[in-house]
Amino acid sequence: MTSYLQLSNITKSYGHFTALDNVSLSVDKGEFVTFLGPSGSGKTTTLMIIAGFEKASGGAVEIGGQSISQLAPHQRNIGIVFQNYALFPHKTAVENVYFPLQMRGVSRSQGLKRAEDMLSLVGLKGFGHRHPKELSGGQQQRVALARALVFEPSLLLLDEPLGALDKNLREQMQIEIKRIQRSLGVTTIFVTHDQSEAMSMSDRIVVFEKGRIEQAAAPLDIYHRPRTAFVATFIGESNLIPATITNAMTKTADNPTLGPFDYAGGEALSDGQNVTLLIRPEHIKLSRNPIEGRKNVRMKVETIVNYGDNALVIGRAGELSMRVRVLGADVVIIKEGEECCISWTPEAVFVITK
Ligand code: ATP
Repeated sequence: MTSYLQLSNITKSYGHFTALDNVSLSVDKGEFVTFLGPSGSGKTTTLMIIAGFEKASGGAVEIGGQSISQLAPHQRNIGIVFQNYALFPHKTAVENVYFPLQMRGVSRSQGLKRAEDMLSLVGLKGFGHRHPKELSGGQQQRVALARALVFEPSLLLLDEPLGALDKNLREQMQIEIKRIQRSLGVTTIFVTHDQSEAMSMSDRIVVFEKGRIEQAAAPLDIYHRPRTAFVATFIGESNLIPATITNAMTKTADNPTLGPFDYAGGEALSDGQNVTLLIRPEHIKLSRNPIEGRKNVRMKVETIVNYGDNALVIGRAGELSMRVRVLGADVVIIKEGEECCISWTPEAVFVITK
């Protein structure tokens, strides 16, 4: 597939402060891409530059091979939904959705019909006559989504659209947005700092940090093969263990406290190289005694955090703090303050070089 949205070497400075530092990204047609990153990492600034509300200090934005950098926001044919819905309070739902069509010269009868159809698609059939204050937060957000989609935009931008909703409604809307996006095939960029939202909704996640892209990859690649230690810690729970490669041929590394390690995954490595080993907590087994065929380490349990169906066991192995995910039923074998064994296979160990 050819790139549809292309960001090339985008920079943005505010005085001496660099908010975006050489951001380049290709997005395919129909792709659902999520910008994920901590507060201030540059997600919204990038989105605003695509939308045309901010001007980049350098670089280019293209859609379908055409530069849009010189176009005003309303000429870009982009649908946008923000966290604060920004609906017109004095207009009904259907009038709100009709508004972008009105701006584009679509007749009232035809426009209202299309607005009603779009309201049905977002699950608001029969709600068109209501004013925003007569709708719940989730319903208002659906109206905002319908308004952003009704004119068949080339691109849909969603900036933390679910941030104001409670957890249940948020999860329901995540599924709904994904369904609507798929059914229309609209290329979408979604901004969030919620990692589980990013994992569950995206074709690809772009992780931002300090105005740069740390990694852009499919959710499971980001999770299992993070390019940097930052990405590993930002997504999911992680154990990061400093180590030195002792033999790249036999895939062994060494940590002063935990001893020799066998690993399976990682980039090209060389003997003597200092690296970080990633082991996800759910890939560690907790037992009373060592298990044959695995790397075993003694751990003193400090804290057990129960989540019902699973628990996170946090303990100390030598100088290292380790996190182990256990299923609810298994947690009964161990108590806080006790010693246990933790173990893993080489496949659980991923080597990070940055
Ligand atoms: P959040 O998750 O909090 O929305 P973000 O990743 O979207 O964060 P941005 O809003 O893109 O971050 O901001 C990137 C950086 O640029 C931040 O450090 C912010 O303070 C800075 N910034 C944004 N707008 C301006 C401005 N108008 N003037 C000066 N600095 C700005």
